[in-house]
Amino acid sequence: MKYVSTRDNSKEYSFEEVFIKGLADDGGLYVPTSLKKFSSDELSDLKNLNYKDLSTEIINLFTSDFISKKDLSELIEKSYSTFREKEVIKISNLGDLKLLELFHGPTLAFKDVAMQFIGNLYEYYLSKNDKKINIVVATSGDTGAAAIDAIRGKSNLNIFVLHPNNRISPVQRKLMTTVEDENVFNIAIDGNFDDCQNIVKQMFSDLDFSNSINMSGVNSINWARIIAQAVYYFYTYFKLDSDKQISFSVPTGNFGDVFAGYLAKEMGLPIDKLIVATNENDILHRAISKGDYVSKKVKETLSPSMDIQLASNFERLIYYVNNSNSGITSDIMKKVKNNEYKIEKSNLDIIQKDFISESCDENEILEIIKQHFDKSSVILDPHTAVGVGAANKLNFSDCVVLSTAHPCKFPAATDKAINKHEELPKELQYVHSKEENFQLLKNDTDAVKNFVKNKL
Ligand SMILES: *Cc1c(COP(=O)(O)O)cnc(C)c1O
Repeated sequence: MKYVSTRDNSKEYSFEEVFIKGLADDGGLYVPTSLKKFSSDELSDLKNLNYKDLSTEIINLFTSDFISKKDLSELIEKSYSTFREKEVIKISNLGDLKLLELFHGPTLAFKDVAMQFIGNLYEYYLSKNDKKINIVVATSGDTGAAAIDAIRGKSNLNIFVLHPNNRISPVQRKLMTTVEDENVFNIAIDGNFDDCQNIVKQMFSDLDFSNSINMSGVNSINWARIIAQAVYYFYTYFKLDSDKQISFSVPTGNFGDVFAGYLAKEMGLPIDKLIVATNENDILHRAISKGDYVSKKVKETLSPSMDIQLASNFERLIYYVNNSNSGITSDIMKKVKNNEYKIEKSNLDIIQKDFISESCDENEILEIIKQHFDKSSVILDPHTAVGVGAANKLNFSDCVVLSTAHPCKFPAATDKAINKHEELPKELQYVHSKEENFQLLKNDTDAVKNFVKNKL
């Protein structure tokens, strides 16, 4: 499988380049040049596979020039042996809705599903290349913990994680800052998530700097993450054994998880609608419902992992909607940068065939949590509650809601809604009492570069 950049598709790249670099030098995102489209017979053949074997089948379509199917299968086995559920994910009922529980990995959010895989993919790469790699990543809370758990203790790899100081939940922070491995560095930035993400982008685009330290990125634009996430859409469809198309409601921030659903649909999985569920940071809801892609100031909400304005992965959708035209995509991304992009009617019509959107404000989130606790004693995390709320508001009564985090990660939200919170699983309770270790830095790219250089 070959890949191109969304901003210049004249040059082809291998999976290895796509995985290690994350972002193309021209600022674009990598996309495959073609996609396997499964027939319904071919889908039936996959139907009875367990999660790990299904992962191998799907991911192998994208990685076969990098890793053999046999090695991939072993790598996936190892990656998912860290999960508390044998089948990695779990489907449960919430009234008429289904919940797709994706939070049974080591750091209690769906990010583990892709990140445990990626950590081992780096190790595999380094077993063949004599290099040292420095991963630098910005987090709104969950990516960082998942990445640290996946990378800690691995040789020839360091990881630097930037989080917005005081803007993530204490449990989220402690899962990162209590890790003792010497290859893990936590940095708290005096700013918000977008500031952290900007610093990382600037570090990447300073090619002298980024090449000199073999800088690599694991944020949600990394194609390896998207393909690992597409697997659970397939798995869910097969497990539900439905004879009609199904819809998914996806709590959305950077548009990575829901884009994985779009990928599954493009590969022939009978998905009806993908519901893009946002919190009060509703740029994607405004974009998908009426073409308004103008960013506003980030608001801090009870669902902090979705407190994002510009959703990086949306660029991939723009590229596909414009018939894989990288010139047009490039022009649109310039407009996005100047915050003056409106989605044209013809493009919007195409987007709305696959996507529908809704947003939930803080009170609605609290109300959803309370309602389901009163009715069935289930405690929903605030991100999942956004997905449930969006499905309700759109009257999608029998869709699958992606449950993206364990409620114990966000006690502030559930305390506020129902005066109750769930405790961390036993094996993670140590984080409450363990010493934290992180460096507070100004919202300044040079300060972060210097910090990194000093540690190497
Ligand atoms: C990251 C995250 C999201 C948003 O996912 P995207 O891929 O960025 O759209 C939603 N919920 C939780 C709990 C998350 O950690």
